[in-house]
Amino acid sequence: MLTSRLPSRVEPYKLAAHSEHLEGLVALDDFARLADEVGAQSGDCHVWLDFTVDAQGRRVIQGRLTADLQLPCRRCLVPMGQRVESDFLLGMVTSDALAAELPSTHEPVLVENEQLNLLTVVEDELILSLPQVVYHDEADCNVSRDQLSSGKDALASEQPAASPFEVLKRLKDTH
Ligand SMILES: [Zn+2]
Repeated sequence: MLTSRLPSRVEPYKLAAHSEHLEGLVALDDFARLADEVGAQSGDCHVWLDFTVDAQGRRVIQGRLTADLQLPCRRCLVPMGQRVESDFLLGMVTSDALAAELPSTHEPVLVENEQLNLLTVVEDELILSLPQVVYHDEADCNVSRDQLSSGKDALASEQPAASPFEVLKRLKDTH
């Protein structure tokens, strides 16, 4: 069975009031910030979202996503297939002040004019879920252990100025 595309914009309060469930696919090549972090991606991210009002009256989204990404090996920089999965709990807020009142179990999502951009939410979540470092198995890697120990000068010129993983780590730390 074909799974439909996730709508890009929704009215989350209405969805929560009716305890709606959304499931759909988002094209990974729509995500420019993800591409900045780990290179261009193809294929889809599969997303499940349950909108509810919890016992405390908070409007929340319980979500799950999975995606098969191509992430650069930290040693040789050649992309390798990696499945990324995340379960998350989002609390809808209308201001930064309200975000600060959410319990630490909830990540805030800003709802503006009763609208929520689901693509932004999914991309944020995907970036936060990336593993910090990925390596090929030594036998499959394009840089062998010998090259690492004897050819450091040759390698140094090929290193990017800032590792995408450093950027991510900063993202995670401020979250
Ligand atoms: Zn490698």
